[in-house]
Amino acid sequence: MQQTSEQLVTRNPATGEVLATLNCTPVSELTHLFERAKAAQEKWALLSRSTRSKYLLDLRETLIQRVDEISELISKENGKPKIEALSAELFPSVDMLTYFAKHARVVLEDQPLKLTLMKHRKSYLNYWPLGVVAVISPWNYPFMLPFGQILMALVAGNAVVFKPSEITPLVGLMIKELCDQSGFPKDLIQVVIGDGSVGAAVVEQRPAKIFFTGSVATGKKIMSAAAKHLIPVNLELGGKDAMIVLADADLDFATSAALWGAFTNSGQVCASVERLLVDRSISENFSLLLKAKMAQLRQGPSSTSANDLGPITFEKQKDVYQRHIQQAKDSNAQFIAGGEFIDSDRRYLKPTLVTGEGIESLDIYNEESFGPIAALTTFTSVEEAIEKANRSPYGLLASVITRNHSLGEQIARRLEVGTVIINEVAYTAGLGETPWGGVKESGFGRSHSLMGLMEFVNVRHIHKPRSHLFVFKSLWWFPYSAFQYETFRSLLALYKRSWFEKAKALPIFLWNLIHFLKNEKRL
Ligand code: NAD
Repeated sequence: MQQTSEQLVTRNPATGEVLATLNCTPVSELTHLFERAKAAQEKWALLSRSTRSKYLLDLRETLIQRVDEISELISKENGKPKIEALSAELFPSVDMLTYFAKHARVVLEDQPLKLTLMKHRKSYLNYWPLGVVAVISPWNYPFMLPFGQILMALVAGNAVVFKPSEITPLVGLMIKELCDQSGFPKDLIQVVIGDGSVGAAVVEQRPAKIFFTGSVATGKKIMSAAAKHLIPVNLELGGKDAMIVLADADLDFATSAALWGAFTNSGQVCASVERLLVDRSISENFSLLLKAKMAQLRQGPSSTSANDLGPITFEKQKDVYQRHIQQAKDSNAQFIAGGEFIDSDRRYLKPTLVTGEGIESLDIYNEESFGPIAALTTFTSVEEAIEKANRSPYGLLASVITRNHSLGEQIARRLEVGTVIINEVAYTAGLGETPWGGVKESGFGRSHSLMGLMEFVNVRHIHKPRSHLFVFKSLWWFPYSAFQYETFRSLLALYKRSWFEKAKALPIFLWNLIHFLKNEKRL
C-alpha cells in the first residue's frame, strides 16, 4: 500500500505488482455518506426480520456463485493460498449467512421477562437497530472478519459504513459489490477507502457504534476518540496465544496442531499460536518432530496451489519480525528453525521456532509478532502451565492438547482468555455459532453467536399493565404518609428466610395495603 492524500495503491504482496490505484474517500464527503446510509437504514429497519434474513440468503447464493473469483482476489491482494481464502474466509462467511438468516428472526423477537412482585404488570425486551454503525477492519482476513460483522449489522436492521484496511481495499470493495448484486439497497452499505486518517474521520462522524478489529494501539486511539462523543465500541484486538501441550499428548497430533496453529496464513492471525508451552518431559521429542514438519512447509506465491504459506502481507510487520528475531539472536536464544527471510525483498520469512533459557523475558515471547514465528518454553506442572499461559497482557485464545479431556477442561476454566480450544486450534473465529472476542488487552465485546448479534441492537424495556383493571396510582407515589411507610415495612417481612415469618407477615401487609389504598383513594 502506498497512499497520497487522494490515492491509494494496492499491490500483490507476492510480486509487488500494482493491482489498482484507488481514489480515497474525501473526508469532506463523509457527512453526506452517513446521511445516505441513515436514510437507507430507516427504510431497511421497517422490513420484517424474515425479509431481512431472505436478503442474507440471496447474498449466500451470490457468494457461492462467485467463489473462485472471490478466493482469487483475496489470495492476490492478501497473499494467502487460495485454499485458505476459500476455507478460512469464504466458507465461514457462507456458513455465517446461513446461521444468522435462520436465527436472527427468532432471537431478535421480543423477550418476555418474569416479574416476581409486580404480578399486575408485564415486562418485555424489545430489540431495535442501532442505526448507522462503523466497521473498521484489518488486512489479515480481509473478507471473513468484516463480512461477519456486516451481515450481523444488516440482519439486525442497521446500515454499515465499512472501512477496509488500506492494505486490502479491493476485497473491501468486493464485499460491497456482492451486497449490491444480491439486491441490498445501494446506500445501506457504504465503503470508505483510505488509511487510518480516514478511519479516524469515520469515528468523528459519530456512528451509532464502532466495531473495530485491529491492533491494540489503534484500538486505544479509537476508544479515546469515541469517548469524546460517548460512542460505544466493540474492540477485537491482538493476541499472544498459548498452546499448552500436556505430557500425555499424542505427539503427531500435537505437532500438527501447533504447525497449523502457528503458521496458517503465515502466522498473520490474531489467534495464531505464538507461545508453545510444552511439558518438559516431551519437549525435546515435540521440538524435533515439529521442526521436521516445519521443514516440509512450502512457501511461495499464492498463484500456485502447491504452497502452504504465502508471502508476508504487510511491509511494516516485517520490521517487527526483524526486531523480535534480532533481540532473540543477541540473547543467544536457540533457533530450532527459521530466523531469517528467504529472499532479499523480505517477502517470505522462514517459519521460525525459537526456544532457550531466558526466552520468557524476550519480546519474541511477550509481544505479538503476527507472523510465522512461535516461541517454545516448558513447564513441569499443570499449575506452572496455567500460570505461564496467563502471564500475558493479552487474553484472546488458548488451546490445550491432551488425551485427558477432563483435565483439559479444568485447565480451560482457569485460563484468562475469551476462548479455549481443547484438541483443536485457532479456528473458532470462523464459526457463526460461537462467540469471538477477548479479555485484557485483546479487547472486549463479542462477535458472532447470538451474543455477538446482540451487540448490534439497542435494548428497550417495555413495562405495561396486565389489563386496564390494573391501572391505579402506585404505592410509592405522592403524597407520602405514615400508612405508606407501614405498608412498605410490612412488605419487607415477606423477604424473611423463615416461611413461618413470611406467613405471619402476609395478612399484615395485605391489611396495610388495603387500608392504604382506600384511605389514599388510590384504587
Ligand atoms: P491496525 O490497527 O493498524 O489497522 C486496523 C484498521 O484500523 C485499518 O483499517 C486502519 O486503516 C484503521 N485505523 C488505523 N488507525 C486508525 C484510527 N486512528 N482511527 C480509525 N481507524 C484507524 O491493524 P492491522 O495491522 O490492520 O491488523 C493487525 C492487528 O489486528 C493485529 O494486532 C491482530 O492481532 C489484530 N486482529 C485482531 C483480530 C481479532 O479478532 N481479535 C482479528 C484480526 C486481526
